[in-house]
This record gives sequence, C-alpha cells and structure tokens, in this order.
Amino acid sequence: MLKSSRLVIEHQCPQCGAPATLEETERLFTCPFCRVKSYLVTADYFRYLLPHAAPAGKSLIYLPYWRFKGSFFVSLLGGIKPRIVDVSQQAVSSPMFPVSMGLRSQTLKLRFVSPENEGVFLKPKVSSKDLLQVAEETFASSTREPMFAKTFVGDTLSQIYSPFYITDKLMDAVLNRPVSLAPPKDFDISTIEGGKPDWRIEFIPTLCPNCGWDLQGEKNALALSCRNCNSLWMNKRKGFVKLEFGIFPSETPDAIYFPFYRIRADVTGIKLDSYADLVKTANMAKVVQEGWDEKPFRFWTPAFKIRPDDFLFFSRNLTLSQPPKAYVPKLPQGEVLPVTMPLQDAVESLKINLASFMKPPQMLRVLDSIVIKAKSVVLVYIPFQKSCNELYQPAFNLRTNKTLLEYAKHL
Ligand SMILES: [Zn+2]
Ligand SMILES: [Zn+2]
Repeated sequence: MLKSSRLVIEHQCPQCGAPATLEETERLFTCPFCRVKSYLVTADYFRYLLPHAAPAGKSLIYLPYWRFKGSFFVSLLGGIKPRIVDVSQQAVSSPMFPVSMGLRSQTLKLRFVSPENEGVFLKPKVSSKDLLQVAEETFASSTREPMFAKTFVGDTLSQIYSPFYITDKLMDAVLNRPVSLAPPKDFDISTIEGGKPDWRIEFIPTLCPNCGWDLQGEKNALALSCRNCNSLWMNKRKGFVKLEFGIFPSETPDAIYFPFYRIRADVTGIKLDSYADLVKTANMAKVVQEGWDEKPFRFWTPAFKIRPDDFLFFSRNLTLSQPPKAYVPKLPQGEVLPVTMPLQDAVESLKINLASFMKPPQMLRVLDSIVIKAKSVVLVYIPFQKSCNELYQPAFNLRTNKTLLEYAKHL
C-alpha cells in the first residue's frame, strides 16, 4: 500500500472559536461544538506554518517551502509513463536554509498562516511553475527518449512556512538546533524581502447560491450538491459555481457511482471534432459509418483522486468508448465517490489523454503543435457494480480492483 504523506492542521471554528484539527484535503468543516458548517477557500493555494519552539524574545524568520503532491505524466514513443510526485522545495532560494522541510511537516500539526502571526515572513521568489519545471527536468535527465507531451495533475499545491531565528548561528526554531551552515559574516537578513503575511484562510457558508438550502458533501469534496433544487456546485477560488451534471442510472441497487468530467473541447492542430475523427486518430479497427461525423467527440476524465495509472486507464478507455447514452439530470443516490479532482487538472490532462490513444506512434510528433481548449463540461456519475474484489462497469466494459477505493480515499 502506498504511504502518502498527509498534513494535519490545527485551527479554530470561524463561528464559535472552538479548536479543531483538519486534514489537508478537508474543505467542508463541520464544527463538533456549534455544528455550523463552513467551506475553506482560497484564491490560489493554502499557506501553513510550522509551530515554533523558540525561546521567548527571539525574532522569528519564516522561510516558505513549496509542497506539491500529484502525478506526472509524460508521453514517450513506447507509451505514457506516469509517476507519483511528492516534493517540497524552498520558495525562496537560499543556501543558508535547509533545502527541504524534511519530514517535520508530517509529524507536527500545522496552522494556517495569518496576518496576525509574529515574525518576518520571507516573500516567495520561486513560482509554482518553477517548482514543476525542476521536477520535470529531474525526470527529463533520467531518460534519453524524446518526450511528446507532459503534464502534472496535482492533488495538492501549498506553501509551508518554517520558522528560524538567528543567534551566532542560524537556528531551526522547530527543533531549536543550529542549521548546519553558520551564516556568513556579511549575512544580513534585512536584505531578504519579507514582512507580515498578507493571506488568511477564508470560510464561506455552505448555502446553495440558487435556493439558500444547505449544501451536502463529504469533507474533502470539491463539489457540493443541493438536494432541494437539484443542483451541483463546484468550488472555484472563493465561491461556488454551478456545474451541469447527470447520472447513468444503475441497473443494480448496490452500485457505487464514480464522478467523471465529460469535456467538449476545441482541438487545433489535428481534426478531432467527431466520433469519425476519433476512429481515425486512434486508428480503430472500425469502418466509419454514416452519421459518425455528426456525433460530437468528448474527452472523459476521472473527477476523483486516483493513482496515475488508473487515471490514465479511465481517461483513455472512457474517451475511446464515447459513452453514447444521454445522462439523466439527477443526483445519484446511495454510495457515491466525492469529486476530489479539480476541474483545472482534468483539463490540463487532456493532451496526455489524447497521447494515450493516438496511433500510429509517429503521430505523437504533432502533439507539440496541438492546443486543446475546454469549451463545456458536464459532471457525469457512472455506476460500478461490486463483485468480490472487483468494481465492474458492464456498459463500457471497465473493470478495476476494489483497492482503488482505498487509494481514492487516502491519496
Ligand atoms: Zn463552532
Ligand atoms: Zn438549491
């Protein structure tokens, strides 16, 4: 079983101030004391700090580290190589400070950063793009094969501030011990840009923007449903936006529903507009029939967190199946996997999805010039039947091991 690092965050109920702990993937917080529900939002990414244990009176300096957890997909001639990425790296490059946080963020409870925090918070100088660039170069240096398309599908992108202070040495304020290098004589902390953090966690009420009813969802859900006006709402930046949705009704009562994004996209650089285009692009052993050039082509992508090889499996096979059935605009009943994959990541994965079925492989060379832009999205819940160790979707002939559910919950 994959052991994935997860953070625990200490915070307070925004309503009654009661202390609580959260896991980093939790978004919908229900206070155990006042029962008020609220949803955690940010315009970009969450920022945490490690609690310090410095002696009283020390001036603290917080160095930000990026944390990225997700999957990296790269298309090579021999197929797509997915891998799990879990990195932390300085967001202010400085040889003075430790290059990574090590394991401390996994053993200590974090807190959300806020403008009230004491200390100097160094201003991040390394962008999240730079961070992923480094991860990509690390991969590129490990292979000599040409890479045709590559993308990160992120589960988590956040910043963690780690505290330090200066005596005659630079001290780690978590462990209260010197960081290996003594500061050079001319080191002057005031030359590094920083100040009070200008960020805080925000909470929004979980009320349906359409009818004011209480929205429902799991703790880690990125989409919440309103059972009163039958609508689905996805978190985008600091609010909720309406999402079109539907189900393929199950024929068996104990099915479990998986959410998928069905994405209609503008593809330039290759003709991929209809089912007939798909048959040609994927070089399927099928004769194009009348009417197939009228049938719109759509990408399909899992809307739940999943291991990278499963992500690819579902994306590729559902896209090739082009589920023909019209969906029923209802919310599923019974067991449902929550939406945990951001739509943005699903959209970014479309080129890899395309690379997974393009044939012959020489065609991959055109991938660089292809641009894919999402036009419209529907969230479709597809039922899977349970049998022994398997989950099975008969209509699209998809089979997967039940352990997928464990991964989906713990990634
Ligand atoms: Zn409360
Ligand atoms: Zn409503």
